[in-house]
Amino acid sequence: MTPSLDTPVVIAGAGPVGLICALALAQSGVPCILIEAEPTLTHDLRAGTFHPPTLEMLERVGVTEDMLALGIRVPVWQSWDMDFGRVADWDLSLLQHDTPYPFRLHLEQHRLTPILYRSLQAYPHASVLFGHRFESMRQHDTHVEIVATTDAGERRFRAAWLIGADGGRSQVRKSAGIEFAGYTWPERYSVISTRHDFAEQGFRENAYISDPTQWVAVFKMPDERPPGLWRMTLPVGAEVSEAEALAGPYAQHAIRRLTRDAPSTQYPLVHQSIYNVHQRVAVTMRAHRVLLAGDSAHVNNPLGGFGLNSGIHDAVSVGEMLAKVVKGEAPDTLLDLYHRQRHTVNVEYVQTLSVRNKHNLEVKDPVERAQRIRDLQAISADSVKAREYLLNSSMINSIRRASTIA
Ligand SMILES: Cc1cc2nc3c(=O)[nH]c(=O)nc-3n(C[C@H](O)[C@H](O)[C@H](O)COP(=O)(O)OP(=O)(O)OC[C@H]3O[C@@H](n4cnc5c(N)ncnc54)[C@H](O)[C@@H]3O)c2cc1C
Repeated sequence: MTPSLDTPVVIAGAGPVGLICALALAQSGVPCILIEAEPTLTHDLRAGTFHPPTLEMLERVGVTEDMLALGIRVPVWQSWDMDFGRVADWDLSLLQHDTPYPFRLHLEQHRLTPILYRSLQAYPHASVLFGHRFESMRQHDTHVEIVATTDAGERRFRAAWLIGADGGRSQVRKSAGIEFAGYTWPERYSVISTRHDFAEQGFRENAYISDPTQWVAVFKMPDERPPGLWRMTLPVGAEVSEAEALAGPYAQHAIRRLTRDAPSTQYPLVHQSIYNVHQRVAVTMRAHRVLLAGDSAHVNNPLGGFGLNSGIHDAVSVGEMLAKVVKGEAPDTLLDLYHRQRHTVNVEYVQTLSVRNKHNLEVKDPVERAQRIRDLQAISADSVKAREYLLNSSMINSIRRASTIA
């Protein structure tokens, strides 16, 4: 067995959240070790939408410019209804006095992580150890003992603090005995990527199409080079098998529902996957010397694009606060404030809005559905109400709310 490594902070999980925690700490001069179970950065197709406050925060760790260079700016997104057609355009320029980034940015999660990893290379006191799977930990008054497994056997670390950024199935959360309260939706979500250009149907780079039987969300993604590709997300009922949902005909039918082309029309498919979807929040984001951030602390359905964005808000917040504690500039009770701020806004905004977005997209009652269309039209036609709506959907209000929590 290799001898224990001592370090102020160990972070488990080199996904976007873990990498940002490491960057925030390293930039403050705090040494840290990031342990990642996989042999390389993962090629994750999940998140793709970044909201204005996230771009502002990532400016603090110095990566926003690189993201802007690769991503697609989405100044207007849309609400549609499958039968009614286009319902509302949401113009983010209404937020021009609220943020320097009045747009959504579309960029694949797996293209953000290499940017973060590269930025981290500039800090010799931060290291990333691939092929190190966090297994267990034991907390003491002054430190945490951490056990990781590698191909060469067990490896132990002794750290003052441990951050769990190891995703929704977090082993750190389980080791700390923290309950992950909430539920799993019965339906799964399918993600389909195609080269078919949905602009031909009048969709902007991001549109949500409500429908009582199967809603759809479409996103134009940059991919490796222009013209990029289009990604669709839609629910898959419990009666459809995974094999059926991942087969070409399922995707062709899903695309055809939007294009209304003849049944014989075939579209170029790039990728298909299927996910379980949950609404869960860890009952605490701090257990003594263990902190949780990102999906290890909370998961939600992807409608609204809040999951990774809120994880990034956690990462910058915990990185900056923990750096102050490690350097003796603040008492460790600052980390209780981290829990209060981030847990509260996750419950009040991320969970509430993502559940509401899902409900609104799948309304079955025709009277409620018609009323919903009228409401969205009225809000989008009134610039004051539309700005209020966008402050919520762009997560600006969640950040403002967090800053009021003492
Ligand atoms: C279909 C879909 C679409 C989505 N779209 C969006 C979107 O548009 N916008 C948005 O904000 N969010 C979106 N999300 C959510 C987003 O993908 C997640 O919130 C995000 O990946 C969380 O990042 P993370 O770093 O916390 O966890 P992850 O990305 O899951 O990274 C965790 C890392 O930890 C590693 N790991 C796991 N276990 C261990 C261990 N024991 N030891 C060491 N390492 C370990 C993993 O290999 C991985 O590298 C979407 C999710 C889905 C399912």
